[in-house]
Amino acid sequence: MTRAFTYRGSAAHIVFGAGKRAETGDWVEKLGCGKALVLSTPHQADDAAALSEQLGGLSVGVFAKAAMHTPVDVTEEAMEVVKQTGADSVVALGGGSTTGLGKAIAYRTDLPQVVIPTTYAGSEVTPILGQTEGGRKTTVRGDSILPEVVIYDPDLTTGLPLPMTITSGLNAMAHAAEALYAQDRNPVSSLMAAEGLGAFSEALPLLAADPADAEARSAALYGAWLCGTVLGTVGMALHHKICHTLGGSFDTPHAETHAIMLPHTVGFNAGTVPDQLEPVAKLFGATPGAGLFDFSERIGAPQALKDLGLSEADLDRAADIATENPYWNPRPIDRESIRNLLQDAWDGTRPAI
Ligand code: NAD
Repeated sequence: MTRAFTYRGSAAHIVFGAGKRAETGDWVEKLGCGKALVLSTPHQADDAAALSEQLGGLSVGVFAKAAMHTPVDVTEEAMEVVKQTGADSVVALGGGSTTGLGKAIAYRTDLPQVVIPTTYAGSEVTPILGQTEGGRKTTVRGDSILPEVVIYDPDLTTGLPLPMTITSGLNAMAHAAEALYAQDRNPVSSLMAAEGLGAFSEALPLLAADPADAEARSAALYGAWLCGTVLGTVGMALHHKICHTLGGSFDTPHAETHAIMLPHTVGFNAGTVPDQLEPVAKLFGATPGAGLFDFSERIGAPQALKDLGLSEADLDRAADIATENPYWNPRPIDRESIRNLLQDAWDGTRPAI
């Protein structure tokens, strides 16, 4: 019998296809805007300048200082530029960091956003903003944070370096894995999660062999949309809690942390929710955690937290922080089992199931 559920479709426009970045100006105009501020990180400043040029009179310029974890001082500097230029919209070109800056501006101004993602992080389809101030990361949710238009153009991901392609892909897959057993899952979120995992299961091995494979780039970006969408619509559990702890308190890199933890957190929950994790078992092997570990090894992903600069002594404090506040997870959580799980992830041990 179909279990009871609540479903809310996203209000965002999704535009997908190679070359679709050429339609950016049309979408700015469809939003009723004509003065877009183009955002990027310093690393992608040239691409942002080219996009601004493409927009011509629809662009008021480029702000290329987006940074990881959306620091509030960078947002405040961008807000000055918004005021000076009279910008009526933002166009964010880049990964989760640039999307985060666009969301932070929209949160303060309600300006419409067009996002052109160039990684698989998925932030562009969530109504969630994480920002940092004084070393503390806080998270807010709201309708004004969800970008109005997302243009997925796989051509823009061809230059994503292979190590980041792999870790960003596993980061996206983690959203889908947790969506499968989310308490508030619905039939649509489960379909999207399974489809997203399937897209990455095919695309990542192809990209590991040839990062310029256009079809695989397209499949991976399609997977990123699906996995990001479920991150934005259903609740996450143990995996995201641990990654948030490690990134927030120990400054471990975002995508790598997700990539390393995924087989362990899925393995931890696999015995409790085998039915819900069946799509993972079908794609990666009967023991989902071990299957994901073998998959990540095959595509050359990092597999041990010790390689991220985390010391073994940090694991005690990480276990404390990750278990100090109760939160829902299919398998009940206690400090000892989380400490053991972190040890396995630190050592890079293959999960048993
Ligand atoms: P990122 O945006 O920090 O990008 C990392 C680096 O790669 C940057 O220098 C960027 O300019 C560069 N880069 C991006 N795309 C490239 C490309 N195609 N070619 C070459 N270089 C490229 O990394 P990320 O993993 O996409 O985002 C991580 C951030 O996003 C974190 O702060 C995380 O908290 C946030 N995030 C938020 C949500 C949400 O829903 N709020 C979801 C996922 C991630």
